[in-house]
Amino acid sequence: MVLESTESWAKQAKNGVVIFVDSQAALKALRRPRMPSGQVYLAGCLGLIQRLAGRCVRIELRWIPAHQGVIGNEIVDQHAKQAAQEPDGLQNPRNRGICLAAAAKRRIRREAKLEWDRTWAKETTSRPTRRLIEAPTKKTLEYWSGLCKATTSILMQLRTGRIGLGAYLNRINRRETARCGCDLGNQTMIHVLLECPLHQDERDWMRSALSDKGTTLSRDELLTRPEARTAVAEFMVKTGLLGQFQTVDPTALGEEENDEGAEIKTP
Ligand SMILES: [Zn+2]
Repeated sequence: MVLESTESWAKQAKNGVVIFVDSQAALKALRRPRMPSGQVYLAGCLGLIQRLAGRCVRIELRWIPAHQGVIGNEIVDQHAKQAAQEPDGLQNPRNRGICLAAAAKRRIRREAKLEWDRTWAKETTSRPTRRLIEAPTKKTLEYWSGLCKATTSILMQLRTGRIGLGAYLNRINRRETARCGCDLGNQTMIHVLLECPLHQDERDWMRSALSDKGTTLSRDELLTRPEARTAVAEFMVKTGLLGQFQTVDPTALGEEENDEGAEIKTP
């Protein structure tokens, strides 16, 4: 998919081309092209790689967790969006590759979901995650879809309880005490989110951000409602408690622009 819009400039590349792909399923399929599904798309990709190899352009495919920030991939996404918006955009022969790419993307998502179901059923080690997420459902997927990577990371840490706050760090012997700096209780996720007076300013900000999205600062809704996702993650960054996010670029937080597959609707 990426490859199709890559061809024109890849021809000029002297030292080869490295393509970052965010789908492990797609890479697996390219490595084992005999798999029955998606032959058409795979044949196209492999053909292109061979054509470029014939011109001595070396193509290297590497997996990354998300495509965000990789310029080439951003361009392809942009092309796909434009084609989808043109009248008869996807019927236009010029856009046929993009049309196929969109279908392939949908299929890969479907297959990834099946793979996830299978892996989940076999999994025996991820108890804290399972406690919060019973099984991969459409609702679960919707909660996580369309988020920037830093936001996803913070929410995942909050929901699993494995987060750089006093209570957890003390439990894994990384900190002497579980007490919070305010000395009113242990530094747990709920203490920080709802109680700690040291973060009242940030909490006031979060309350107003939540009310803009039609939700409230309540224990039950903070970590389950999609509308609360970005405000909660930004609150955690603002507290400065999670060292690894102190230098996070504000644009790396929040939600990604919706693509054709994202189903989350924000007001
Ligand atoms: Zn406190």
